[in-house]
Amino acid sequence: MTQPSERALVPFVSVENMMRLVNARGIERVLRELTDAIEADFRRWPDFDKTPRVAAHSPVGVIELMPTSDGKSYGFKYVNGHPKNLREGLQTVTAFGVLSDVATGYPVLLSEMTVLTALRTAATSAMAARHLAPKGARSMALIGNGAQAEFQALAFKAVCGIEEIRLYDIDPAATAKCLENLKDTGLKLVGCESPEAAIEGAQIVTTVTADKRNATILTDNMVGAGIHINAVGGDCPGKTELHRDILLRSRIFVEYPPQTRIEGEIQQLDPDHPVTELWQVIAGALPGRRSAADITLFDSVGFAIEDFAALRYVHGLLDGDAFCERLDLLADPDEPRDLFGMLRRAAA
Ligand code: NAD
Repeated sequence: MTQPSERALVPFVSVENMMRLVNARGIERVLRELTDAIEADFRRWPDFDKTPRVAAHSPVGVIELMPTSDGKSYGFKYVNGHPKNLREGLQTVTAFGVLSDVATGYPVLLSEMTVLTALRTAATSAMAARHLAPKGARSMALIGNGAQAEFQALAFKAVCGIEEIRLYDIDPAATAKCLENLKDTGLKLVGCESPEAAIEGAQIVTTVTADKRNATILTDNMVGAGIHINAVGGDCPGKTELHRDILLRSRIFVEYPPQTRIEGEIQQLDPDHPVTELWQVIAGALPGRRSAADITLFDSVGFAIEDFAALRYVHGLLDGDAFCERLDLLADPDEPRDLFGMLRRAAA
C-alpha cells in the first residue's frame, strides 16, 4: 500500500479542534489577536487580489465562495446563509475554508470556519469600532441574540473596552441564552424588551439579526447623533436591517465597495452614494469619525481578506498535531507523472 508523502498530508482543523484551540488560548485573547491580524491585512489592502464573492442564491438562502490572494498565499471560504435554517434546528451560517501556497498550489490548511467566521466577524466589527466609535464608548446595544451575538459582545469588551451589553431579540429565548452564556464574562448585562430600550444610553448599536427581507431593525427616530452603528446582519441582496433614512444621515464605512453595493445596507442607496473604504481609515489615508455628533455606520458584509487573515492566524497557531489532524487530501505520487501507476499499485 502506498503511504501518502508528508507534504501531501494537509493539516485539518475540525470543529472540535477549533474549540479546543480557542478554549486553550482564551477567547478574549483570540479575539484581540485576530483583530490585530485582520487589521494588519487591511493595512496592506492593495497587496490583495479582490473580487466580490461568488454567490449562488435560492429563494431560501445563499451559498458563497470567497477567494483572495496576496501573491504568496491563497485562501477561500465556502459559506452559506439560510435564515430559515434556525426554525429547522440548523445553523443559519456554516463555513469551511482552505489556505494554499501560491508557489506550489498545494493546500497548507483545511479548516472548519463556522466558529472561525463568528470570531472573525466579531473581530472585524471591533476593529471598525476602534477606529469609528465615539471616544469612551462603554455601552453597546446588541440586537439579534443568535449564533454570532456572544462573539460580538466579547470582541467589543476585549478590543474596545465595552463594559455593558444591552440585549434584545424578538425571541426572548435567544436573549436568555446570551445572558446565560455571558454571565461570567465580567460584562454588565441588561436584557431588554424592545429595541428602543436596548439602545437607550448605548454609544454603539450592533444589529445582527437574520431575516431574508428588507427589515427595519432600526428606524430613523431611534438613532441619535454621535452613535456608532455596527450593522452585521444585512449581507445579501434583499436582506437589510436599517431604514434607508438612517443611511442618509450616516457616514458609511465599508469593506470592499463592489461587494457591499450588492449585499450591504447601501444596496438601498444610489450606486454612487459616497462611502469610505475602511482600510483607508485604518491605513491613515482618510479620516474616520470627524466629530462627536457624527453617526458612523460600519456596513459589514464580511470580506474574503478577513477569512484569509483568520486562516493564516490559525495556521500560525498549529503546533505539531496538537490542534489538527493530517488529511490524505492530495494524490502525490513519487514520480509526478505516474498517477495512474499509483492507482494500479494500490489495487495490487
Ligand atoms: P441566527 O439565526 O443564529 O440569529 C439571528 C437572530 O436574530 C435570532 O435569534 C432571531 O430571533 C433574531 N431576529 C430576527 N429578526 C429580528 C428582529 N426583527 N429583531 C430582533 N431580533 C431578530 O443568525 P446568526 O448566525 O447570529 O447571524 C446573524 C446575521 O448575521 C445573519 O443575517 C448572517 O447572515 C449575518 N452574518 C454576517 C456576517 C458578516 O460578516 N457581516 C458574518 C456572519 C453572519
